[in-house]
Amino acid sequence: MTRTSTWSSAPQQAEPVYAAPVNRLITELARLPGIGQRTAQRLAFHILRMPPEDVLPLAEAIREVKETVGQCEVCFNLAVGPRCRICEDTRRDADLICVVEEPGDVIPIERTNEWSGRYHVLGGALSPIDGVDPEDLKIAELYERVKDPAHPVREVVVATNPTTTGEATALHIAAGLREFASDITVTRLASGLPVGADLEYADELTLGRALAGRRAV
Ligand SMILES: [Zn+2]
Repeated sequence: MTRTSTWSSAPQQAEPVYAAPVNRLITELARLPGIGQRTAQRLAFHILRMPPEDVLPLAEAIREVKETVGQCEVCFNLAVGPRCRICEDTRRDADLICVVEEPGDVIPIERTNEWSGRYHVLGGALSPIDGVDPEDLKIAELYERVKDPAHPVREVVVATNPTTTGEATALHIAAGLREFASDITVTRLASGLPVGADLEYADELTLGRALAGRRAV
């Protein structure tokens, strides 16, 4: 019988277990950070169980955010339109710039209520091993902002993450600023933040203290 050979030693995972659309959903969910294959499967089955009116707003929200949200032309924070709400807010101090790695880092700093200045989002941290060089980040754009005589800058707070790459980025930027803008104070968040952790996971009290106690670099 030829039939027996099909089920002999062939590994089962070679055949897709679920219907193609379900597999596609699992694959897409598993591409998200922090979501492994198992979680992706659990989420996919949860979505399948949900009534359409509960789950379609999620799909719609993903589509809307990708269609309407871009980068602020000044600070590279998330923005609907050419500029973000912080850059458009004239009550914010334009002579204070807080440099962060990702747009997600703006939120915890905003929550501290300790920062009245603007931001500059680099889009990552320097990591030559991973191929992230100064040209890959918005560092040149930061220097252009600082050089702009129309908007004098008093202080640049480098609030990159307290990780190896975040520290390297902070040192690079501090050295770069020193070359052409020695009159500008360059500061770094005070210690107290958990080393190796991301800013977005810091509680606002710790982060607020780190911001208030920032030191020159
Ligand atoms: Zn902005």
